[in-house]
Parts: sequence; structure tokens; C-alpha cells
Amino acid sequence: MIKYNLLCKKCNLSFDSWFASSKEFDKLKKKKLINCHGCGSLKVEKNLMAPKLISKTLTEQIEKKDIQKYQKIRRKINEYQKFIKSNFDYVGENFAYEARSIHYNNKKKNKGIYGTASKKDLKELKEEGIDTQLIPWVENQNN
Ligand SMILES: [Zn+2]
Repeated sequence: MIKYNLLCKKCNLSFDSWFASSKEFDKLKKKKLINCHGCGSLKVEKNLMAPKLISKTLTEQIEKKDIQKYQKIRRKINEYQKFIKSNFDYVGENFAYEARSIHYNNKKKNKGIYGTASKKDLKELKEEGIDTQLIPWVENQNN
């Protein structure tokens, strides 16, 4: 006798079942005599691995990767923001106005500017030939 842990592909129920041999399992499977104890589906497979354990480990690995990726990006953004804050003047919501006044009035500025602008503003600035750069921004910085 051999005991198999079976997994229903339809309802994900796993259950144990006894067979005379592995050959008998194949035979019964071929004859469609093995069905799910829960939903009666014939989509029952031999469950060779412990899926819960594996998927849990996998999920943890993926989450870890995501967190590392996020922290890396976050660090990069922090560096950007530090650089911008010390090299650019903050103009807040007046960004589009300030960008235009620099562009059209040849207003001499030692520093570039940064601030917020709507998508519409950015599109218009671009059409007017004013270069802008979009950067990701994280609020509530401590520096
Ligand atoms: Zn089922």
C-alpha cells in the first residue's frame, strides 16, 4: 500500500489517499476514478511537494527582494533630494511661473529651481521649449 497526498487543482483541497501501488494510482487516474473529496473534480494530482511550505518561503523571498529594492530606490531618492535641496531654490507651486520667468526674462539665477507643477503645466512648459525634469519625491524627509 502506498499513501499519496493528493491535491485538487480546482478547489486546492489536499487530502491523503491509499493505493495498492503507484501503478494503481495511474490506472485509476486514467479511468477517471480519482476525484476530489471536497468538490468531486477529477483534476486531482499527486502532491509531491509540500506546497504550503514552498509557497510561504517563496513569498517571503519575494517580499524580502521587494523591500530591498524599495530601500535601494528610497536611498537613491534621498540622495537626489539632498542634492536638489542644496543646489536648487524651492519655488513650491510657483514652479511653472518661475520656470517661465527664467526662460523668458533671462533672469540670471545661480541656482536652478525645483517645485511642484501639474501635468498640464509640464506639458505647456515642454511645448514652450522649457526643460523640466521629473523626479520622484518622498515627503516628510528629516534632512
Ligand atoms: Zn476539489
